[in-house]
Amino acid sequence: MTIACCAGLSNGELKTIGEWSMIFDTHAHYDDEAFDTDREEILSGLSSHGIKKIVNIGVDIPTSKNSIELAEIYDFIYAVIGFHPSEVGSMTEDDIDWLRAHVYKNVSSDERIKPEEIKDKEKNDKVIAIGEIGLDYHWSESEEENNNQQHWFRRQIALAKTDRKGSPPGLYQMLHHHSAHVYQISSIILRLF
Ligand SMILES: [Zn+2]
Repeated sequence: MTIACCAGLSNGELKTIGEWSMIFDTHAHYDDEAFDTDREEILSGLSSHGIKKIVNIGVDIPTSKNSIELAEIYDFIYAVIGFHPSEVGSMTEDDIDWLRAHVYKNVSSDERIKPEEIKDKEKNDKVIAIGEIGLDYHWSESEEENNNQQHWFRRQIALAKTDRKGSPPGLYQMLHHHSAHVYQISSIILRLF
């Protein structure tokens, strides 16, 4: 298989994928039902096409569980867990407690953890970020829905920034934004100070 290179090569030059040192797929949803019939076959074959690392991202609790499971099965897959802005309609603090629990090792699939219960839990290095979180006003149908998205976006940023020990503390955030850029960017900046 060959691909055209967008930069760094002279006109018309092609490079085979095998010549690249590594392709890192930073945003995948291989737990999607579209892959139910051939997931294992696809994932097992990706390395031979140069795809050496994959980040699989949840959009709610079931898909976050799936992402963690894939990260446990395949050493080249890393998990991101969280609630997509279009999925926060029925989100509760109980869901935040679930997300908090699952950045740690040795937790049961339905375990929840309050901040004061973290104690000396060991971080799960295969869970690398909270996401995909953000704001999506394109599909939002009301101001109330926008406000709810903002609330859970802030809560998930706070979770990522404060609720995991280690050096550096906190987790990265994998962002989704659609038709809400100004608020999203200013919100993130405000959390940094
Ligand atoms: Zn996505």
